[in-house]
Amino acid sequence: MMSESTTNLAGRARPARPQAVLTVLDRQWLSPHTVRITAGGPGFGALRMNDFTDKYAKVIFADPSLGLAPPYDLAALRESLPPGRQPVTRTYTLRRADARRQELSIDFVVHGDKGIAAPWAANAEPGDTLTLSGAGGAYRPDPGSDWHLFAGDESALPAICAALEALPGDARGHAYLETSDLGEYLDATPPSGIQVTWLHRPHAGSEPRLLADALLANPWPAGRADVFAHGERESMKAVRAILKTRLGDGDQLSLSGYWASGRTEDVFQSEKRQPIGQI
Ligand SMILES: Cc1cc2nc3c(=O)[nH]c(=O)nc-3n(C[C@H](O)[C@H](O)[C@H](O)COP(=O)(O)OP(=O)(O)OC[C@H]3O[C@@H](n4cnc5c(N)ncnc54)[C@H](O)[C@@H]3O)c2cc1C
Repeated sequence: MMSESTTNLAGRARPARPQAVLTVLDRQWLSPHTVRITAGGPGFGALRMNDFTDKYAKVIFADPSLGLAPPYDLAALRESLPPGRQPVTRTYTLRRADARRQELSIDFVVHGDKGIAAPWAANAEPGDTLTLSGAGGAYRPDPGSDWHLFAGDESALPAICAALEALPGDARGHAYLETSDLGEYLDATPPSGIQVTWLHRPHAGSEPRLLADALLANPWPAGRADVFAHGERESMKAVRAILKTRLGDGDQLSLSGYWASGRTEDVFQSEKRQPIGQI
């Protein structure tokens, strides 16, 4: 099955991304809306790890009724299956990845019974299979910056927690975290100079100005800023508008939408090529 190749615009065949076929080892609820799946096994070696704190993988889901065994020959399946029956991919941060133990953990936001990845994670059992390819990533906190700003919702919390853990002990800054969980849960111990502010809304996507208004209401410290802002697309558009008025030369920005309200990931990704998808 791994002889798959795809053809690029120049017509040359390029090898398919290797797929790691792992076994679910554990499912742990971190909060009412977040479940951590830990998976591992020798298939871990198919992942090309990197040192970015926002490293992510594409989790691949095939319709169980097709009876396919991973790794999937996605190119062949694109030829043989109608569009609605193709395997789908969902993007997830690798919250922890331990090459020595050949294990990784992903924190899935469980956002109701809609979707593919979230319901799968909510019901996954040890022994189930998790298939993924990766890893991508682009950000790691810059220890040379004067202060750090984090802004995100539950989907960005794993990447933000990984970044908080990577900060030097004397780091300063602010993390604005949007959630619909009643409690305030953080699976990382930030340096004491990082102020954490939780922002509550009834459900994800319901208040796209929440993060932006919090940024507006608070002072902007002097010095070179290192900003990591990710989450729901409309929320990130509002955050970018504020940052445009604050960021100066030498500041660093990592900002993107991780999902879009009312859109499956497939639609969200395809809309990146349209005006509504531009952040
Ligand atoms: C680089 C990157 C890293 C990411 N890391 C994580 C991560 O670590 N953990 C994580 O949970 N997500 C993460 N996401 C977001 C995740 O890919 C999307 O939330 C994805 O749409 C979930 O797939 P699904 O099959 O559950 O729902 P889909 O089938 O894609 O969508 C079904 C419905 O659910 C809604 N929906 C999707 N996500 C959410 C949400 N978070 N809250 C409320 N409603 C939602 C959609 O708008 C749609 O209406 C990341 C995205 C990117 C691009």
